[in-house]
Amino acid sequence: MGETFIPLADLRYAADVPRIPETALPPGGLLADRLGRPLRDLRISVTDRCNFRCSYCMPKEVFDKAYRFLPHSSLLSFEEITRAARLFVAHGVSKLRLTGGEPLLRKNLEVLIEQLAALRTPEGEALDITLTTNGSLLERKAAALRAAGLRRVTVSLDALDDSIFRRMNDVDFPVADVLRGIDAALRVGLAPIKINMVVKRGTNDHEIVPLARHVRDTYGPGVILRFIEYMDVGATNGWCMDEVLPSAEVVRRLADVFPLQPIEPNASGETAARWRYLDGGGEIGVISSVTQAFCRDCNRARLSTEGKLFLCLFASRGHDLRTLLRGAYSDEQIAAAIGLIWGEREDHYSELRGAGTAAAGSGERRVEMHYIGG
Ligand code: SAM
Ligand code: SF4
Ligand code: SF4
Repeated sequence: MGETFIPLADLRYAADVPRIPETALPPGGLLADRLGRPLRDLRISVTDRCNFRCSYCMPKEVFDKAYRFLPHSSLLSFEEITRAARLFVAHGVSKLRLTGGEPLLRKNLEVLIEQLAALRTPEGEALDITLTTNGSLLERKAAALRAAGLRRVTVSLDALDDSIFRRMNDVDFPVADVLRGIDAALRVGLAPIKINMVVKRGTNDHEIVPLARHVRDTYGPGVILRFIEYMDVGATNGWCMDEVLPSAEVVRRLADVFPLQPIEPNASGETAARWRYLDGGGEIGVISSVTQAFCRDCNRARLSTEGKLFLCLFASRGHDLRTLLRGAYSDEQIAAAIGLIWGEREDHYSELRGAGTAAAGSGERRVEMHYIGG
């Protein structure tokens, strides 16, 4: 058994106010952290709220009626998010992912997408803007998201079987509604769509082949199914290694039915290892954060709903960018502060976990997934 649930009404995470360098640094330019990793990918959490209670992310026992989500005044405004994103883009970020909580719960999200879609890299290129959603509101919102400039979406779906899916989201939400959301996204051209399935041994691992078959038969190569190892993120989900099904086993089970062949990654820093169906039925991905850490290429930073910057999914301390964004600081000063923060980064938690040397930590609570986004 894993840890017991920790009941708590009000999770807050420590954050340091970033240092502004005294000597002016250039406001942009590529960054490298202490392990030589560039900054390419910014994940922006737009809400800490969610209409699901997936047990691996927001267990109902913890995130109950007494739990206090962030007040509206704490949230970064769309203008603040866009300003921050612009400064990150000047430092080499070319990919933005909106996440949460459930990002489609944030009111007028398409207005933010429009603002972000207008940003350009220093080379004048449009950004790769995407969003991860549980799909519950996608049918209603797909057209507006596309019109605002969103290019593609990732939809989380842990089972094809309705009763298993309802149990995993723990709010009795039907699988058919998510499937209709995927159809709507495809209709408006949010492509390619990726579907994320978190695999928990003993809970939904027997859904691997049925979901893969459904995706192949229904959508073909236009939809990419990705299997994510259940992670020990946060401190509330009662994670234990026994419930992790290694990706190698996922691939073995799939290959027994649909022969597979590994393919090259699209880009450095990609989290998923790619495999293609030998019969031309498309590709799948496996994200092996537990059994095959990919910290070496990790080029991702995460901005929480209230403007704290986290450099690792398993961090417990953030950097309080909101204080800078709401203070009398110039773009140049904030960009230079971001440069300093990234330059000092040396996070590689999953590698340490894999080696059995992950530190017990400073006693501070590890950040929850719904708070910084996946
Ligand atoms: N609510 C949206 C959703 O579910 O797609 C976006 C936020 S959710 C935190 C982002 C991704 O993290 C989802 O694909 C979810 O399945 C994944 N996730 C959450 N907790 C996880 C865990 N403990 N291990 C692995 N993946 C997890
Ligand atoms: Fe909500 Fe997404 Fe977390 Fe599930 S994984 S509880 S849908 S934020
Ligand atoms: Fe990146 Fe941290 Fe995950 Fe390693 S553990 S891949 S550093 S987010």
